[in-house]
Amino acid sequence: MIPFFPPDLFEADGADLLEIVRSVGTDPGQRFILGERTAAFEDALRERTGAADVVACSSGTGALSLVLSATGVGEGDEVVVPALGCAPPAATVAALGAVPVFADVDPHRLVVDPDAAEAAVTGRTRALMPAHLFSVMADMPRFADIARRRGLRLLEDSALAQGGELAGTPAGLWGEAGVYSFVQVKTFGTAGEGGAVVTRDPGLGRAVRTLRNHGQDGSQRFVHHRVGYNSRFDEILAAFQLHRLPGFDERLERRARIAEYYTDRFADLVGDGITAPPPGREGRCFYVYTLLAEDREGLAAHLARAGVGSHVYYPRPLPHQPAFAPYAPAAGRWPAAESAARRNLSIPLYPHLSDARVEYIADTVRAFARPGRHARDGAAVQSRRAT
Ligand SMILES: *Cc1c(COP(=O)(O)O)cnc(C)c1O
Repeated sequence: MIPFFPPDLFEADGADLLEIVRSVGTDPGQRFILGERTAAFEDALRERTGAADVVACSSGTGALSLVLSATGVGEGDEVVVPALGCAPPAATVAALGAVPVFADVDPHRLVVDPDAAEAAVTGRTRALMPAHLFSVMADMPRFADIARRRGLRLLEDSALAQGGELAGTPAGLWGEAGVYSFVQVKTFGTAGEGGAVVTRDPGLGRAVRTLRNHGQDGSQRFVHHRVGYNSRFDEILAAFQLHRLPGFDERLERRARIAEYYTDRFADLVGDGITAPPPGREGRCFYVYTLLAEDREGLAAHLARAGVGSHVYYPRPLPHQPAFAPYAPAAGRWPAAESAARRNLSIPLYPHLSDARVEYIADTVRAFARPGRHARDGAAVQSRRAT
């Protein structure tokens, strides 16, 4: 059985994690949140990305709320978000009393389409908040151009794109602020909850730091400059993330190679009802590997019979969710998001997946698309190994 989510993600780091728990737990300082380990972790991410500030916080969702609050998004404002994807971009906007406006996605790249986003701009639009999804970064140069021309704020939901880069700029640094999520399944996931805000703007960084801890500025407790949040970060996880950081690039590279191998093996299956994601490395962060399958349920069942786990990310576009329907015009249509919601299927992608398993998964997908015609492909795999 090849699980979709690996149960042994942190196995190699297990002993180190226990040692970290012991050392934080017995540290005479008895500081469990926002201590020196959190500060060191923020510094390490700041150096890696070249951001002016990185603020660790409670989750990727928490990071989005901090960014929206810090940029003054509130009652009556509209924020353009993707129609397909996870709930947090729309939910954090709605939680501030603002209105998420859903823009359709590109039918193949599956990230929000800049033309659809621009068409959704009204006189009340305050910000654009594209998200990078399905391992593909949104077209940030175009979003930056739209934001400039239309006088809008540009915020980047880069929660799952940490380590990705587009035109030399890291994911998270295209807009005024970006976010990362450290929840287990993300590329830099941890053994718990966490997130970060990244920004080139030191003033915005200071505002986010204040909002992270109930509007206090760090120099004086119980002086609340703004209505803030509890979005603080844990010292054990800060130390664990510092411990995992040196291996991050290598794990990302392994993910990229597996994805490239899959895309190479699936490139000719379009006519057989299976579409691989767009090829290439530019503007990618290999978080999941997502196919578009005309017979998705058939493919998922075929994979399950062969012992391969798969997963449907986002079976419904957000405007069709009960929580968000009130924000979506009744006559609204998001055809690309609706089609992708019916067809997307993700297959296993994690760094410690062996070459043999990667080849087996690819063979299994091909066998479904082209029954009886996959033996020949199997022989060719040796010259195109995943490593
Ligand atoms: C995971 C994710 C979030 C939320 O991050 P959490 O840490 O789970 O709160 C937000 N946006 C996107 C695109 C994500 O993938």
